[in-house]
Amino acid sequence: MNAGRRIDVRGVVQGVGFRPWVYRLALEEGLTGRVFNDAEGVRIEAFGSSRALDVFVARLAEATPPASEIRSLRTRDLPPEASAAFEIAPSREDGVRRFSIPPDLPTCPDCLVELFDPDDRRFRYPFLNCTSCGPRFTIARGVPYDRAATTMAPFAMCGACRREYETPGDRRFHAQPNACPACGPTLRAVDDRGHDVVCGRDAVDAAVRALRDGFVVAVKGLGGFHLAADARSDAAVARLRERKRRDAKPLAVMPRDPAAAEVLAALSEEERRLLVSPERPIVLAARRAGAPVADAVAPRSPLVGLLLPYTPLHHLLLEGVASPLVMTSGNLSDEPIAAGNGEALARLRGVADLFLVHDREIESPCDDSVARVVAGRPVVLRRARGYVPRAIPLVRPVARPVLGCGADLKSTFCLAFGDSAYLSPHLGDLEGDAAFTRYRETVARFERLLGVSPEVVAHDLHPGFASTAFARTFADVDTVAVAHHHAHVASAMAEHGLAGEVFGLAWDGTGLGTDDASWGGELLLASAAGFERLATFRPVALAGGDAAVREPWRVALALLLDAFDGEAPLDRLPLFADRPREATVIREMLEKGVHAPPAHGVGRLFDGIGALVLGRARSRFEGDVALDWNLAADPRETRGYPIGIDAPAAGLWSVDTRPLVRAVTADLLAGRSSATISARFHVALAEAAAALVREAIRVRGPRPVVLTGGCFQNARLAEDVAARLLGEADVRLHERVPPGDGGVSLGQVFVADAVLHRKGGV
Ligand code: ZN
Ligand code: ZN
Ligand code: FE
Repeated sequence: MNAGRRIDVRGVVQGVGFRPWVYRLALEEGLTGRVFNDAEGVRIEAFGSSRALDVFVARLAEATPPASEIRSLRTRDLPPEASAAFEIAPSREDGVRRFSIPPDLPTCPDCLVELFDPDDRRFRYPFLNCTSCGPRFTIARGVPYDRAATTMAPFAMCGACRREYETPGDRRFHAQPNACPACGPTLRAVDDRGHDVVCGRDAVDAAVRALRDGFVVAVKGLGGFHLAADARSDAAVARLRERKRRDAKPLAVMPRDPAAAEVLAALSEEERRLLVSPERPIVLAARRAGAPVADAVAPRSPLVGLLLPYTPLHHLLLEGVASPLVMTSGNLSDEPIAAGNGEALARLRGVADLFLVHDREIESPCDDSVARVVAGRPVVLRRARGYVPRAIPLVRPVARPVLGCGADLKSTFCLAFGDSAYLSPHLGDLEGDAAFTRYRETVARFERLLGVSPEVVAHDLHPGFASTAFARTFADVDTVAVAHHHAHVASAMAEHGLAGEVFGLAWDGTGLGTDDASWGGELLLASAAGFERLATFRPVALAGGDAAVREPWRVALALLLDAFDGEAPLDRLPLFADRPREATVIREMLEKGVHAPPAHGVGRLFDGIGALVLGRARSRFEGDVALDWNLAADPRETRGYPIGIDAPAAGLWSVDTRPLVRAVTADLLAGRSSATISARFHVALAEAAAALVREAIRVRGPRPVVLTGGCFQNARLAEDVAARLLGEADVRLHERVPPGDGGVSLGQVFVADAVLHRKGGV
């Protein structure tokens, strides 16, 4: 009659209210026994009738707490045991250590009800949370993840909070950041010298008034400070932009709830799901015509970045202001997000009019994540709050702990051991001192939290990268230099558990190849340990090197001179006619080949053609013109331009862009709209991609195909390539790992381990 069952649950099951939920389930099924965290997840030892146990296991697998994710559920029989009750037992942390700290979680529905219930003791308390919601990773100082090892340690729980914390079955049982107005953190509104304006609930009111009046408020959130402003007010948004020195990048908007989000953007089912997901990323979606937000939120863009409130403070502010808020990270352009009160006051003085601060410290700064739906699936473009520090499972465990140092732009690092790879939050561009300092601090923190030091350090081939210099500071490790595009392809292999050979289309702006040239239009036949370069793009000369990246009109000029063999109709094109002297100088540089290194990156083609057709001489930020060129494409246009693929020379196919450039120029001179030209340009590139893959399959045999590199953040391109190859190849896009340089560190880890331990190999 009596039976026993042991159930090992693996996945995201710690710190997400999993044990209390198991506890309630066990009580409902009349079982006895225990549940506890172990080193790898949660173990349940349950006793009762076999029927009740079967139902229990079935219910476990069925519906779990929202932020949890069961990767595997293994059961085996146990001899019956005469236990009297079901209990939540102390953790047993032996065996391999994992990151037992979960990602931060958005305020749950139960807590929201309390927040707005005047009879609740936490009515309008900005720091309420429970086992299903609240800060996690950003407040963790050590492991195991217990209150004493978080920035909540200085707050001694009051009697009422302690009772909740200690009562199994209470929804605040072992909620480490549990707090109430009597014992928890306090909110303050301060001016830019740090002087108190008001405290507590009045602070929210002060901030609401300021926002309504069009002022900019710095708001301390989970992973750092946001700069908030009324998204409907042209004046407020313009003020924010001007002070933040961010004159073009789109700003994220936080509507109050999903219904308010629908007013701003036409959302697909998948986008809606992504918006309310526990990770709460900024979701890029199609902005509705006439959406009630200031134009300056996302000038010229057909997209808008939306994110829903994820802390009680957000909910209070949005309820008070009754308008969507711009919520952009609290920094000046190119600096890391400010996280400390003092740091924010110092760095955001003159930017914010009022500061909403509190005394719960942020241990690990973390930007908002950014995601969008491509080909019906979510793709994380910037991976940070909500996703970090969730592990990416590796199909082949690494032999020794590996650190991948990443690339310098949109950098992340990745620390891996056993079968888990931990990607750091997005750390920005390492060129600035502040960003590089934060990068180094975050590496040290990950090593400490994971209790592991790398024995292998992988880095980009580029000798000038700060991340490469950093890799060289490690003593007594094996270092491995990984070609940028091999790392891109490997990041997709790691994400999709592809251990064999793949065809990798790695298209991005730039990255150093093994021949010292700038690559970025590559088709590689790759394994984890090596690659063969099958195809690339005809290179374009970058007059002035990096200057051409900032001034894409120079790229346009180079493309035209190449495509028309020196006979380009430059005087009929305003982009060049407007700057005759500069154009002459650059033309000479190009013709003489002085300081004009060749670049194969497809991103440069987007820059150059975008500059030509849109008449945009300069980029205001990295990838600016390329992005606008992408977004200009008319979705209804399906015709393409001719584009050539040259027969392989020395085994390497080359995409000849000259026919494309000539056709674009002809359409432009004929007065065709930029929307049509952009669409035809996209079609041509997708056709070229599909043709290359088909040729590769024909000559080398079928392999899975991965699309990676920053160009495949471009939904139109990625979807078109995938659609063309449907039924012909197994095409994989990125999902949990960014296609851009934020994923490179994971690829480096995957490659370095394979290189050193000779697994597979092209
Ligand atoms: Zn909650
Ligand atoms: Zn309390
Ligand atoms: Fe790249």
